[in-house]
Amino acid sequence: MKKNKRDDFTETIKLKLAKRVAFICSNPSCQKLTIGPSTNNTINNIGVASHICAASPGGPRYNKNMTEKERKDLNNGIWLCQSCAKLIDSDETKYTVKLLHSWKDEMESTIIYNFGERINLKKKNKLEYIFDTLRDTNNWEQIQEDNIDGYYFKENPSYMIEIIDDDNHNTEFYSYLMTNKSTSYYTLLLKYNTTCIYSTQVVCLDSSRLKTVVPLSSFVHYDGHTYKYKYFIKNSKEIILRDFLFNYKKGYDKSEEIYAMNRLNEVVIEYETEEEKDYFENKYLKNINSQDIKDLSKEYTYVGGNPKEIKINQNHIGLGLYIKNKYNLYKNNVI
Ligand SMILES: [Zn+2]
Repeated sequence: MKKNKRDDFTETIKLKLAKRVAFICSNPSCQKLTIGPSTNNTINNIGVASHICAASPGGPRYNKNMTEKERKDLNNGIWLCQSCAKLIDSDETKYTVKLLHSWKDEMESTIIYNFGERINLKKKNKLEYIFDTLRDTNNWEQIQEDNIDGYYFKENPSYMIEIIDDDNHNTEFYSYLMTNKSTSYYTLLLKYNTTCIYSTQVVCLDSSRLKTVVPLSSFVHYDGHTYKYKYFIKNSKEIILRDFLFNYKKGYDKSEEIYAMNRLNEVVIEYETEEEKDYFENKYLKNINSQDIKDLSKEYTYVGGNPKEIKINQNHIGLGLYIKNKYNLYKNNVI
């Protein structure tokens, strides 16, 4: 039996495709810069040299009349970011050969038009700068005052994080995944001197074993009702703060905190981008089978004080598990 072989691009062709569009994603509604420096002197590359007509039979837009040489040719490639590369291969009736050639032509002529010109690059503002410093907990120190729960920026102590008590004491559904469902809420303030420059809600879960940023809410509809589920966007301010609070070195054994975080993450989705969230919700969360959710939540019979509360929480947990499972299948290219 003849094995299907892929007519992949050579490294020279890939690099040529990237350089011809200055390493910018060719999807006109994306245009992400795909290359740049990363820490420890390496290169971050989120770009892909994608085939317009697939490299092997059965792939998207495969054309059996093309020769191997044509399939591997510069003319059959387009430079995209990773998410757009995935996008174009998910729907070949929407992303046709003609459309992809028009994206490529348009981006190449845009680059020609801007060639030798000054590009308007966004500059990091103060808030972004300060969030960058939070990625390494060593940049910050805990405030050593009895009545203040917070941290200050070592290089410039005018920047402070303060966590203050909140009046909201509702128990959220994910509390029931913890060993202890006691929940309390706080507001995290990022301050410059006395001015608050950013704030977000913090929740203390599992008898205060885990203090973490409250995930964002999104909504899905099925069986004639609207339901809430929880998510984050990678590299967002919420995630940076969540990781900061979690990674900050503590003088005690972290195993219970890690357990609580893992339980929480069973029902919290972490999307790459807002666009990916919209795409995933539209493609995979439009026809939810409520029986699947019931099956997943069967064992959670203890999640509330009365039958109505139990039903609501059980459903939230089931939905969270269902979406997480779907998302993992999507990320692993199973669906
Ligand atoms: Zn893109």
